[in-house]
Amino acid sequence: MPASLDLRFDRFYSYQELTRALEQLAAFAPDRVRRHSIGRSPEGRELWMLTVTDFTRGDPDRKPAYLIHGNLHAQELSGTTAALYVAHYLVTDDTPELQRLLGEVVFYIVPRINPDGAEYALTTGGAIRSRLVPVPARNAIRPADVNGDGLILRMRIRCEDGDQRPDRQDPRLMVPREPHDDEGPFYRVFTEGFIEDWDGGEPREASYHKDFNRNWGANWRPEHQQYGAGDFPFSEPEMRAVAEFVAAHPNIFGALGFHTGCNGVLRPPASRPDEELNDRDLAVLRELGRKGEQATGFKLRAVTQYRLDESRPNRLQGHFTDWAYEHLGIYPFEIELGMLYQSAGITTDQYFASKSDEERREFDRAILRWHDAHPEAGAFVDWQPFEHPQLGRVEIGGLRMNAFANPDPRELPGIAEGCTRFILEHAGRYPHLRIVGVRVDAVGSDIFRIRATVMNTGGFPTYIAETGRDVRANRSPMARLELGDGMEMLSREAGVELGHLGARSGKRDLEWFVKGRGTARLVASAVKAGTAAVEIPIGG
Ligand SMILES: [Zn+2]
Repeated sequence: MPASLDLRFDRFYSYQELTRALEQLAAFAPDRVRRHSIGRSPEGRELWMLTVTDFTRGDPDRKPAYLIHGNLHAQELSGTTAALYVAHYLVTDDTPELQRLLGEVVFYIVPRINPDGAEYALTTGGAIRSRLVPVPARNAIRPADVNGDGLILRMRIRCEDGDQRPDRQDPRLMVPREPHDDEGPFYRVFTEGFIEDWDGGEPREASYHKDFNRNWGANWRPEHQQYGAGDFPFSEPEMRAVAEFVAAHPNIFGALGFHTGCNGVLRPPASRPDEELNDRDLAVLRELGRKGEQATGFKLRAVTQYRLDESRPNRLQGHFTDWAYEHLGIYPFEIELGMLYQSAGITTDQYFASKSDEERREFDRAILRWHDAHPEAGAFVDWQPFEHPQLGRVEIGGLRMNAFANPDPRELPGIAEGCTRFILEHAGRYPHLRIVGVRVDAVGSDIFRIRATVMNTGGFPTYIAETGRDVRANRSPMARLELGDGMEMLSREAGVELGHLGARSGKRDLEWFVKGRGTARLVASAVKAGTAAVEIPIGG
């Protein structure tokens, strides 16, 4: 066992570095963390998962489980770092509270759902949502590193009929041409790349960006209704791997996905108004979400409300939060860890309150000022002239999207610490079965009545959210009295369906009659609440 871990959380991880970091974690504490792969990406990268629990206590897959995922969107590399931070905390912290939690609960952590996209974003700095699919078309730009600097940025071409011009305050920034502006200089701006099937005409952007967070199997809509949806729910191999793992693990009672964007704590619903949600579920989502606000300092919003104040509510179809809430019957959250706007001093509220592109242009200027103060981060690459083999003289430069789409990585340890506290709060509410009030009374010669109460002392009911009552895999909790040799069950059934139990003190009283002496064992179990068992000496 290595003496220490030297993982850092103020940086982004390449696939190779991530693989090594997970290996290191697994080697550090094999009784607490194991690494395995839930599938493979189209480019052949493993989809790593960490299972974190106390492996010396109980079957991990029968414990209540908390799912954490990150970096489903390619550029949102901070999600991987934050997931690693949480894993590192769970693996290395030795407080009695955490030891107790890991005795009862298991964490499934997928730090990077989208390793192919993440590698593209990290190495090229190019724009990519989840997966970039070049669409063959006449004059289509195929994104590529044209000038050999390893990056895929933007190309600007000076021309009289250009629709963009350098910003008057910061000419590095390209802004739309204004009405009656005949002065120039004007440019057309494209993704850096080569032009396919070029007939000398106007190049056009023809890449399709698959969005894995529109590919979950809830309220999924086809492409023409929801950009990025993919061909069908879970059409993407990475997404299907997650879906298959989750389907095989109905013990998942809580989940959180890491994203980046203006910082915030996001809750369902994603595709319909709050009014259509169950009242109790809405209240729990708000109450838990406020814990998230306190822990992270980020404001809670429904996914529908994560938008500019003046725009209409979002209707995001095929979204993780809807899927987990409706199909697993749990309370899922997403945390938007922030982006470079926040590092440059612009709050989410300020951003969302902006009313025009002109106002938002000022935010982009702030990004460039931030870049000037922190050039080592390489967030912006100055426009450099280059002789494009097809287009002739162009200039190549612009923002590195992987830098722009994340907060300054140096802020990540602090941000991830708050997220970890929220996850512990959420996970700490796991439903928890206990067997109490065991009583054995002799009621005849060698005949005994056994009474006991099965309680849920956890913070969630055994069905979790109200939607969970109708989730088929979340079947009713059971109790079973197992008898030792020479004992006979007089009651009709050894096994009893308990029905779902409410939070904190939901209970069910049980009674059996048995004949004979010895030791019985009472076992109570629930899909999302694990197992409780007691030995009961009878007639001894
Ligand atoms: Zn995202």
